[in-house]
Amino acid sequence: MDHCHTSDLISLEQALEKMLSLLSPLQQTESIALTAAAGRITAAPVISPIDVPPFANSAMDGYAVRLTDLQANTPLPVAGKAFAGAPFNGDWPLNTCIRIMTGAPVPAGTEAVIMQEQAEVSDVGVRFTAEVQNGQNIRLAGEDIRQGAGVLPAGVRLGAAQLPLLASLGVAEVQVMRKLKVAVFSTGDELQPVGQPLQAGQIYDTNRFAVRLMLEQLGCEVIDLGIIRDNQEALRAAFEQADSQADVVISSGGVSVGEADYTKQMLDELGEVSFWKLAIKPGKPFAFGKLKHAWFCGLPGNPVSAALTFYQLVQPLLAKLAGHSDWQLPPRLKARALTPLKKAPGRLDFQRGVFTSNAQGELEVSTTGHQGSHIFSSFSQGNCFIVLERERGSVAAGEMVEIEPFNALLRN
Ligand code: AMP
Ligand code: MG
Repeated sequence: MDHCHTSDLISLEQALEKMLSLLSPLQQTESIALTAAAGRITAAPVISPIDVPPFANSAMDGYAVRLTDLQANTPLPVAGKAFAGAPFNGDWPLNTCIRIMTGAPVPAGTEAVIMQEQAEVSDVGVRFTAEVQNGQNIRLAGEDIRQGAGVLPAGVRLGAAQLPLLASLGVAEVQVMRKLKVAVFSTGDELQPVGQPLQAGQIYDTNRFAVRLMLEQLGCEVIDLGIIRDNQEALRAAFEQADSQADVVISSGGVSVGEADYTKQMLDELGEVSFWKLAIKPGKPFAFGKLKHAWFCGLPGNPVSAALTFYQLVQPLLAKLAGHSDWQLPPRLKARALTPLKKAPGRLDFQRGVFTSNAQGELEVSTTGHQGSHIFSSFSQGNCFIVLERERGSVAAGEMVEIEPFNALLRN
């Protein structure tokens, strides 16, 4: 049983700390067009080149007024019109108002904009029906962002919350970290790529597919070296090629202790790699270290273990290397288990679950069922990890547990 010899296992935290302490972010940066910057990481703070809004403008469709013109409380004739993109530039006679639309620059001297719902129009002019405050409905220049102000720090991933902001500033180019180059291959004589018929004893290669997809989502440049057979020459060639081309090399399979597990031997020869037995489930065997040039992560062969160790260990490693300094996993939350959860003490367990919020707003979570490390459907059925502490045993329905919602790598 797994829990018999758990003292030589290292914890997830220890493994992460060790890995992250060894590596530092890439140094190379590049300047690219904003239109090509989705998913990239800022390499320097972005400074606003302009005031936003660039000029004082109207927040409403209505009338621009001067407060002194309102004192007689008589209707004001309309002396002109101001549209978004077509300002009013004429003379503005005393005791008149200017018709103005949302987004139009306010004419010089404007002290307030009165919305049209508070205006009565007649032959003699416009009468206003509500109290008027100095400055109302005027968006001031620089009210959102001042020219020269820092808009984004370095180390931020550019997505739908950031890129439109930069567009609103007219920033056409942005300085970003260069993409990480990551080489990936699977090992195993039993593996077939999708699209080929299965022969006796063969299975389809799940891991390379999973790893590639996650790498692409993380904005890496993927070098796919395919399936490598369980022999030393093929493995050596794959490792050497990967090491010469990539910043990070990720393999799967061959890191446990079977007779066809040549990876360890190879790596002793080609680099400085530690083989860890992690105190997590699934995903006990995991290798990490350095080849001649590239960092190396050896994922376990079982697909759930491979995806989980990628998610929990490789993802933070890639974020650090890529300079994504505000990266973090979704926070862990407390939820009530609606189903019993089977567990033996000894390893931190990442079961897959489905969480929802009940009528009282409390979180509840159910298991996706069979938790074997070959049951990949548990990811597609689940929306979170149920994270069960290392020393905890089985959980009865009704007990509180921690959940960690999937981030975008696993979410549908
Ligand atoms: P290994 O660590 O190479 O002994 O593999 C452990 C288990 O995972 C075995 O059942 C393998 O057949 C399976 N496995 C290894 N690599 C893959 C892969 N790329 N896709 C699917 N299953 C795999
Ligand atoms: Mg194998």
